[in-house]
Amino acid sequence: MYKKLFIPGPTHVREEILQAQTAPMIGHRAREYSDLQGRVTPKLQQLLYTQQPVFIYASSGTGVMEGSIRQAVRPGKRALVTVCGAFSKRWFEIAVGNGIPTDKVEVEWGLGFRPEQVVEALGQGDYDAVTITLNETSTGVQNPVAEIAAAVRAAYPDVVILVDAVSSMAGVKIEFDAWDIDCVLASSQKCFALPPGLTMAAVSERMFKRAGEVPGRGYYFDFLDMLKYYKKNQTPATPAISLIQALDKQMDDILAEGLENRWARHLEMAHLVQAWGRKYWKLFAAEEFLSPTVTTMVNTRGIVVGDLNKALAERGAMISNGYGDLKEKTFRIATMGDLTVADVRWLLGEIDDILGLE
Ligand SMILES: *Cc1c(COP(=O)(O)O)cnc(C)c1O
Repeated sequence: MYKKLFIPGPTHVREEILQAQTAPMIGHRAREYSDLQGRVTPKLQQLLYTQQPVFIYASSGTGVMEGSIRQAVRPGKRALVTVCGAFSKRWFEIAVGNGIPTDKVEVEWGLGFRPEQVVEALGQGDYDAVTITLNETSTGVQNPVAEIAAAVRAAYPDVVILVDAVSSMAGVKIEFDAWDIDCVLASSQKCFALPPGLTMAAVSERMFKRAGEVPGRGYYFDFLDMLKYYKKNQTPATPAISLIQALDKQMDDILAEGLENRWARHLEMAHLVQAWGRKYWKLFAAEEFLSPTVTTMVNTRGIVVGDLNKALAERGAMISNGYGDLKEKTFRIATMGDLTVADVRWLLGEIDDILGLE
């Protein structure tokens, strides 16, 4: 049976978007492709409130996490990774796996970072880059990236700020230019409500300059090579044309909904789940850091999450278990992408019914 996905990726994809992927194939060096990329890019710039290039990679988000950090740290310098859950920790593992001298600063899971904690940590070493996770999908925490970036910028003007916005871009307002951050990236299967396979990344002038100073910056994700082709509305390697055709359609729909409406809808859906979570469970994230796209509930009733999901499957829905160490101890409801407030009310009603909550 078809299940509506309330999991933090892949998210529910509307039929029209699935259909948009079936358009005939075009040559990626042909005029039709340049027209397509040239049409999509300004819509992505609008989404991110930026004049800077927004690249489209045939990759999951993790690929661009790796690609960006490789280009951010000059020989002899270090990277700082802010860790508040499983996904932010991944950037530490990626950096170490690429031989980049890296330190991490951690907060207790369920909390986010305050600006002064990041600035203080940057004072402890010779850093070229800091990574921040806008929305930590394991704990349901949103970090105040605008405030953190402002504080970092004031204290360390040359440190490049890399932002993982995988579970928030297209669901939460991200003002790339005003925040003065250097790379923000997100894959297609979360708030964009597309199938997996693409990653969108905005890149600042500061980041391009830094990339030029890093000799071993890699090949596939090389921002300077991407920029060269971007100017012709192309990519160095073959793009995922079908997905970009779906992205073109989806961006039209996103802009037709209205960006402010889209942010408000995400918030309203999250508020519903949070209120339900406070009533029947306990919210894992601290109130001041609650995510507008995914809510992590502490499993205070000791339910078997797999059993709940089996019962939900019969009714046409799926939620998510806790991630990693938080499995069974927590469960998550994602309210991302093209889900509606009515969808969320329906889901919560079904769970109430299955578990006899009243
Ligand atoms: C899902 C997720 C990722 C991983 O993205 P992929 O596209 O699967 O590589 C990274 N960071 C966060 C915050 C996520 O939610």
